[in-house]
Parts: sequence; structure tokens; C-alpha cells
Amino acid sequence: MFGFLHVIGVAAGAGALLWLRARARRRAARSDDRAPVIVWTDEGVRFKCGSCDAWHVGVPNWHFGGPDAVTAMAPAERAQRAAREGDAIVVDEKFCFVLALLELPVQGMPEPYAWGVWVNIRGRDVASFVELYNDEHRPAGATFEGRLGNSIPGYPETRNLPVRLVVRPFPTRPLAEVVDDTHPLAHDQRAGVSQEALRRQITPLFARERPDAGPAAEATV
Ligand SMILES: [Zn+2]
Repeated sequence: MFGFLHVIGVAAGAGALLWLRARARRRAARSDDRAPVIVWTDEGVRFKCGSCDAWHVGVPNWHFGGPDAVTAMAPAERAQRAAREGDAIVVDEKFCFVLALLELPVQGMPEPYAWGVWVNIRGRDVASFVELYNDEHRPAGATFEGRLGNSIPGYPETRNLPVRLVVRPFPTRPLAEVVDDTHPLAHDQRAGVSQEALRRQITPLFARERPDAGPAAEATV
């Protein structure tokens, strides 16, 4: 199993993390969300929302509950080693992961599909990222280098894959772009995926468990 000793990280600035905590307290918890019911028809896709119970057009985005290495921990170990504050998870008070959206165009759909992925950022980037994250007037376009903390199904291993985080206007989460042009996930980010391929990827995920099996009870939608 992948371990955090394999992730080279630098201790995050305590001040930056406290700032993120203050902000996180103002976020609504979604721990009571239920798995969405997804209906695929020839006319399109819709789903019964786990948050608001309404039917929405499109495909529900899948957000991983944390980096795979964290969700794989036994609950007791996770409680000891990992702390979640809003869109950040800090492991061993040292390794920082932030939630980003890895978006892919879907054929025949107006909106891209977004995988909610955890990206390891390091060193001074942590404080810089948190400052922008908390700034409601932040400019778009700043970039950070990171590595994916999740295996996205249907691709060669994506965990540890280098990505570029692109900051977007508040409150939109940052975009994650695969750096290696030759990886199939990078290809799909450019060219898009079919609805059938997407269906094959996400159906088992939503059928198996809720995505909020992370270190805290806060789900992300
Ligand atoms: Zn809803």
C-alpha cells in the first residue's frame, strides 16, 4: 500500500492552516447526504440529488473522500494521523492535500464532468494557496504544482501523477490539469469522454459507498 513516507513533503506553515480552519468553520457540513439515484436514458442523464432530493439534469460529480492513502487507513489510525478542514487534509501535521476539480468534457453534455480529487501541494505553496483560497477577491490564473492523491478508475495509475492546479475566481474550486500530455487522462481532458465510458467509471463508485469516508464527517458536493 502506498504510504506517506513516499510523499516528499515539507511542513505546512501553522499560521496558514489556522486561517483555513477559521474559514472551514463557516462551511456547511453535508454529512447527511445520501447516494444519488442516477437514471441514464436515450434522452439524457438525470439524478435524484443526495443533498436536496430534487432531480437534476446531468451526472453527479464524484468527489473522493480524501487521498486514497488516507481513506485506506483504519478509522482509528485515520483519526490520529489525518485532519480535515474544509477543502484541505493534513496528514501527520506535515503533508497537505487540497481538493481540486479534474474536469473532462463529456460528449453531448453542456457541462464538463468533474472528478473531485485530492492534490498534494508542498512547501511554501501551501501558505500561498491557502491565502488565495481564502481571498474572495482573488484573481484567477495562479498555478501550483502538485501530485494526485487518487486512483481514478478506468485509467493507468493516476495516483502520484503530476498535475497543475489552476486557481479560479472565488468560490470555484481550483482546476487540476494533468501535466503529462501522453497520459490517457490528459488525452481525455483535451478530447473528452463518451457518456458510456463515464457511466462505466462512476456507476460502481456510487453503488459501493458514499464518497465521504474520509477523515471527517464532512462530505463534499
Ligand atoms: Zn441538489
